[in-house]
Amino acid sequence: MKATSIEKVKELQQDASNIRNICILAHVDHGKTTLADALIASNGIISKRMAGKLRYMDSRDDEQLRGITMKSSAISLHYLLETKEYLVNLIDSPGHVDFGSEVCTAVRLCDGAIVVVDVVEGVCPQTHAVLRQAWLEKLSPILVLNKIDRLITELKFTPDEAHLHLQQVLEQVAVLCKQYKTKIIYNLYFSPSHGNVVFASAVDGWGFKIQHFSRIFSKKLGIREKILTRTLWGDYYVNTKTKKIMKGAQAKGKKTLFVQFILENLWAIYDAVFIKRYEKITKSLNLNISARDVRVGKSEPRAYLQSICSQWLPLADAVLSSVCQYLPSPSEINGDRVEGLMYFLSCDPTSSTTIVLVSKMVANEKNEQFIAFARVFSGTLKVGQTLFVLGPKYDPTSILDLNVSAVVTSIYLWMGRELESLEEAPAGCIVGIGGLEDVVLNSATLCSSMACPPFNALTVDVAPIIRVA
Ligand code: GDP
Repeated sequence: MKATSIEKVKELQQDASNIRNICILAHVDHGKTTLADALIASNGIISKRMAGKLRYMDSRDDEQLRGITMKSSAISLHYLLETKEYLVNLIDSPGHVDFGSEVCTAVRLCDGAIVVVDVVEGVCPQTHAVLRQAWLEKLSPILVLNKIDRLITELKFTPDEAHLHLQQVLEQVAVLCKQYKTKIIYNLYFSPSHGNVVFASAVDGWGFKIQHFSRIFSKKLGIREKILTRTLWGDYYVNTKTKKIMKGAQAKGKKTLFVQFILENLWAIYDAVFIKRYEKITKSLNLNISARDVRVGKSEPRAYLQSICSQWLPLADAVLSSVCQYLPSPSEINGDRVEGLMYFLSCDPTSSTTIVLVSKMVANEKNEQFIAFARVFSGTLKVGQTLFVLGPKYDPTSILDLNVSAVVTSIYLWMGRELESLEEAPAGCIVGIGGLEDVVLNSATLCSSMACPPFNALTVDVAPIIRVA
């Protein structure tokens, strides 16, 4: 990471309202790592060409070899939404049923989650498990319906069939949410018109929310953005103007504006790429594609597809704008999440009480030490600070509990495979901490005052457990 970027991270860390601590949760193979690559590529940490192939968050050799993610790792991303800058701390987590405790760790440190579902496979056993975990930890989720390209290339659906299929997958997720009583953002269920659903093809680097389209088309059609947003998904007839347009669309055999504007264009792109009619599609969509892109496309259809769709509908934009808009910052931490603990709730970097949650110890092969994977909940953590170490079963009323303390020897910023040294980290940050390996075995609460009760022990809850081959 460039030095200037680290300075930017440090600057954004100073105000918790700029921060989003999020994880990606999904059933194995639904596309978490590919999505993470696309988000990381948007920050220039890896090249867009390598996104999906590099598996940046898989830092261990055995992970790369087996092609599945086993250990959570984190990375800080910078995102500009309109005029406000954000720091998105992305914590990758495994989806395989054997790594339930890792999923649990990721969830514990976050305030929000990106739930990824492969639209062809639909809701799978691990989707149940991770949504349940998100519910237990009271995280706010957004939904990414991934692998939309498979509806075209493998299932050979028409846009109308695809639209119907997407509705069915959303219904499957809604049934699950009801079962787990998941309180989605602002008490809404996942709905494309609410902006908490992104349609994506992580492997081809594109994704969209219908809000993008409302912004672009509302002026062209002379319809208010809010009304158009509602009209783009489902059969929602709002006023005479939209009704007229909808009728026009229906007369042409099209059900909704959503199908008309988005799916049809995407289908046309895939169709053109796979039968190699590049010029026709470039003209018909009036896209600003350079001659070079077309040349790239001519030599390799998939690369052309990626260049055309990711310019038209950049995936990272669709996902990160939803994350920043709809998922809470650490300063909005939910009262039910940390009942009665005012220190945790305040997320105040100036607080005289420093509280840190260590969720696991990670082996750092480079300098053969264990680093704590942690989040600062209150105060500012500083190198050289002495903190009490409260294990998960610590009882402040018991005289049998020993006072264990440790000195923070180093603080790190997690950058996937790299660690960047920090002098301090204010409340809201996800960091690595050195100097704890002799006193922390796994998870613990670190506190500058013995009066602080610890977080509950991490619960590994992957029910319903159904083993996948
Ligand atoms: P994870 O186990 O959830 O991390 O899944 P991966 O990101 O490793 O993806 C599993 C497989 O699905 C890989 O072969 C990816 O290339 C592929 N994949 C990921 N996203 C997409 C997508 O949008 N479309 C298609 N067709 N394949 C995808």
